[in-house]
Amino acid sequence: MIIRTEGQAHKELHADLCVVGGGLSGMFAAIAAARGGARVVLMQDRPVLGGNCSSEIRMWIRGAMGSKDHKTHMENRETGLISELEEENIYFNPNLNYSVWDGVMWNMVKSEPNITLLLNCSCAGADMDGENIKCVHGWQLTTYTWFTVYAKYFSDCSGDSILAPLTGARYRVGREGNDEYGETIGPKVSDRKTMGMSCLLQARETDHKVEFKAPPWANVYLEDSDFDYVPALAKDDFEHCSKEAKKQASALKRAHKLGTNGTNFWWIELGGEDDSIHDTERLRDELLKIAYGIWDHIKNRGDHGADNWELEWVGFLPGKRESRRYVGRYVLTQNDVQAEGRFDDMVAYGGWPMDDHNPAGFKAITAEPPSLLHPTPSPYGIPLRSLYSGDIPNLFFAGRNLSATHAAMSSTRVMATCALLGQAVGSAVAMCVAENITPDELVEKRITALQKRLRDDGCWLPFSVREIPELSKNATLSLSDEDKALLFNGQERPDADWTINYITLPVGGEITYTFDKPERVNVLRMVFDPDFKHETVTPNKKIRVFAQKSSTGLDFVPVKVAATLVKNFDVYADGEKIYSADECHRSLVKVNIGQEVKQLRVVFNETWGADEVRVFSCDVE
Ligand SMILES: Cc1cc2nc3c(=O)[nH]c(=O)nc-3n(C[C@H](O)[C@H](O)[C@H](O)COP(=O)(O)OP(=O)(O)OC[C@H]3O[C@@H](n4cnc5c(N)ncnc54)[C@H](O)[C@@H]3O)c2cc1C
Repeated sequence: MIIRTEGQAHKELHADLCVVGGGLSGMFAAIAAARGGARVVLMQDRPVLGGNCSSEIRMWIRGAMGSKDHKTHMENRETGLISELEEENIYFNPNLNYSVWDGVMWNMVKSEPNITLLLNCSCAGADMDGENIKCVHGWQLTTYTWFTVYAKYFSDCSGDSILAPLTGARYRVGREGNDEYGETIGPKVSDRKTMGMSCLLQARETDHKVEFKAPPWANVYLEDSDFDYVPALAKDDFEHCSKEAKKQASALKRAHKLGTNGTNFWWIELGGEDDSIHDTERLRDELLKIAYGIWDHIKNRGDHGADNWELEWVGFLPGKRESRRYVGRYVLTQNDVQAEGRFDDMVAYGGWPMDDHNPAGFKAITAEPPSLLHPTPSPYGIPLRSLYSGDIPNLFFAGRNLSATHAAMSSTRVMATCALLGQAVGSAVAMCVAENITPDELVEKRITALQKRLRDDGCWLPFSVREIPELSKNATLSLSDEDKALLFNGQERPDADWTINYITLPVGGEITYTFDKPERVNVLRMVFDPDFKHETVTPNKKIRVFAQKSSTGLDFVPVKVAATLVKNFDVYADGEKIYSADECHRSLVKVNIGQEVKQLRVVFNETWGADEVRVFSCDVE
């Protein structure tokens, strides 16, 4: 129920899906549903999209670890809409400028004719129709207008689960006690503690000395030891301890090393012992005092090699790690994660460690580590049943508010994982709408079709391979039997042992499909190698994980489109050129054919630098 005063403007919108929250999970839920034919309204309370990775917060995107680590072994890199976004960013934003990044995300949403985007619009109310949500109300700050959005389905991607208190959907705050789900990493007894929120800072290296005068309200940290966690192991012991223990201890330090490959100050964190929703404004003030105090420490209190560095940006909008989590059809737990989550209704995967931050955050300075990293298998599966409500039939959710215990969520919360969750939800809603089925019916009867759709749209689902369309299998290809088998093996990434899974052709090479008789071909689908390790994209290691940066050193090198992608190709149907791609910078390419063909030929004219063409998939349907 919303109280409107006389004279306030009011607009009504009708859609198949209303997504609340435009972080990566919300953006991709909206785009996947829209591309699946649903009419979508995306309501986002900020002026920009991206949530914690937007220019307002600037957290870098992370996801599943590789078999060794996530900087050198990236065979588990997330694909689908998240790689489309990354590839657009690399092409349009080689300097990784945050304003350009905002524009890339905005363009991705605005390019979808089925999406109505409401920016600066905060969801503040909801009306029910029986047990379903009928509509939500949002206040648009810039136009002083109330929007009421009626929809068949709603997806709460607000992080804070705003629709839970507004609709009565079941949710949870805090950490489960060990007995509740038989977990081991949480507390013995349940509590309401969460991970905290952070205001980040970014700096730039110049070629001259830059002074910094701290504002009078900044905290004062005279020595490194004023805020650096000192591992329980004494320094001498540390020299002799195992490689793994050393790695763990140093990963957990409140490092303040500047550089392109340096820290992003994620450990400036408060709020885990407060109310991480209602105390946000007060906590922001405290976080700013810490952030400016740390910059003063780096510049003016001891030699940090920072003479030539200037403070470029401090976030005034705290990035939130955890608040309300929904209780859905299924609650994902630490045990599911550790058992690899081999669910029949797997629609996404994770693989970041359980990165369980200390609720005391920065208040635990010097005494305790800011986070404990508990290893998980990578990848592990996440079921669709953790992405919709158990009590409100038309409510989905994606992102950090999924239905998971605190322990499991401490891993699933990273943004590339959230991106996969969003794409899964959007694709699921598109099917529910098109086939007029409920989420439960989708899980029971149509989950294989949803999984096929996700795979065809570039999302990898671990422990299984993509099915090759019959039309392709029945055709004659201009390839050796060995290459045909590799092209049709359903794998579109390297294996853990780095088995390549792609075929190679010379630049200028081609693949020809010949059918016994003219066949209707709807789509030609190709997957090129995005250079999974990103060695050709950038020499800066942290940026290879996902093309985004934090601080900028003089060693920063603008990113380049992966040399292994195909830049220019032509498609011929029965000898006639029907499609030509120039400046193509995507790894997943779908070309609409929409005609009867006896022979279809693709000629790969040019790459972005590699001297061979690498093709994971090339098939027709
Ligand atoms: C400091 C920090 C460090 C982190 N480190 C990493 C890291 O290194 N790598 C990584 O991948 N992840 C990291 N995470 C985790 C990750 O950022 C979050 O888990 C992730 O952003 C959650 O995605 P989301 O889409 O659910 O939410 P968000 O990214 O928070 O997006 C939700 C969006 O919904 C909007 N919204 C909220 N309420 C409303 C409303 N009522 N109406 C309309 N819109 C609303 C918000 O403004 C926001 O834009 C970190 C998080 C923090 C805070």
